[in-house]
Amino acid sequence: VVPAILEVKKQVKSLQQDINLELKAGVYLYDGEVSNVIRCTDRAHIACASIKKKYDIDYKFYDAELGGHLARKQFIIDNLVEALANKYIQIYYQPIVRSLTGEVCGWEALVRWIDPNKGTVYPNEFISVLEEYHLIHKLECYVMEEVISTFAKMEKAGMREAVPVSINLSRIDFEIIDIASYMNELLDKYQVKKELFHLEITESALTKNPEFIREQISRIRNCGIKVWMDDFGSGYSSLNVLKNYEFDLVKIDMEFLRGFDVNDNGKIILKHAISMLKNLGFHTLAEGVETKEQYDFLRSLGCELIQGYYIGRPVPLEEGCEQISLDRKSVV
Ligand code: C2E
Ligand code: MG
Ligand code: MG
Repeated sequence: VVPAILEVKKQVKSLQQDINLELKAGVYLYDGEVSNVIRCTDRAHIACASIKKKYDIDYKFYDAELGGHLARKQFIIDNLVEALANKYIQIYYQPIVRSLTGEVCGWEALVRWIDPNKGTVYPNEFISVLEEYHLIHKLECYVMEEVISTFAKMEKAGMREAVPVSINLSRIDFEIIDIASYMNELLDKYQVKKELFHLEITESALTKNPEFIREQISRIRNCGIKVWMDDFGSGYSSLNVLKNYEFDLVKIDMEFLRGFDVNDNGKIILKHAISMLKNLGFHTLAEGVETKEQYDFLRSLGCELIQGYYIGRPVPLEEGCEQISLDRKSVV
């Protein structure tokens, strides 16, 4: 099959003049598992679609891994609404501390899909699928309402754990719902202070439709809700993004902390990045802090907020509240 595909590709190329058409092939080798011709060609299509954006690959055979991957994707699409209704989608909270005092001054809300049969599905697996199928806003509306209603109750009960929570958003959310209006509606409905909630937008979300996203960020901030940039330094557009967008705080990507003991490159980048961010007037937070050495180093650079396994993993809220009643001073 392969020589035939390559030969066809060569012939197609020889017929082209100014235009550049890429030929891709998907192959399903008949193994008797499905008998229907349409399902066989579907599998070939699926194999072909999986290499659509891979410019260096000409063909792909359908295999069990691809089948498994697709089945998981289908599971996510088919079961989201039910998972939300049954509360299989839960919100875990990871503490954020002030580096100088070690005191918990915030939480990040992170979703977990805990399916009774499949176990825990992590956001890295389902967020991109929900984005691709334009279903992400269903998850996000749920997360915003759950977080706001929960923290409204805590604040009213005078609990000291009711420190601000940051909620992650996806770029696609902005295309489907009006985030500023939705947040305002919820704040009104639950009669809670807007200072208690921050929204996180990843740096990569700013690459498409920048003018529109800038306007949306501005609207949210004008309502008094703080907007944080997530994963700073993980993409290619970082520095221009700092110049062109208004953020209240920048979360520095955890990759800079990796290989801390191999060489000093990460440390040098962190030192200059934090100093630059401060000069630009942004508050700073380092995420993914896993050791005391990393914590001490970031504190010495004046990085204001710290988040990471060294402080605490994302956990259900009750567990987080229990943990923060312990003496956090032990981390500083
Ligand atoms: P993120 O917002 O950058 O969140 C940080 C991720 O790093 C979380 O992964 C967290 O569990 C993990 N993490 C925290 N501390 C450490 C550490 O010390 N070491 C290491 N290795 N990892 C650490 P998680 O919960 O799997 O979430 C992954 C990503 O999924 C998040 O990255 C965020 O972009 C996205 N996400 C999570 N919840 C939501 C949501 O409700 N909506 C949207 N749109 N995205 C979400
Ligand atoms: Mg985040
Ligand atoms: Mg992050």
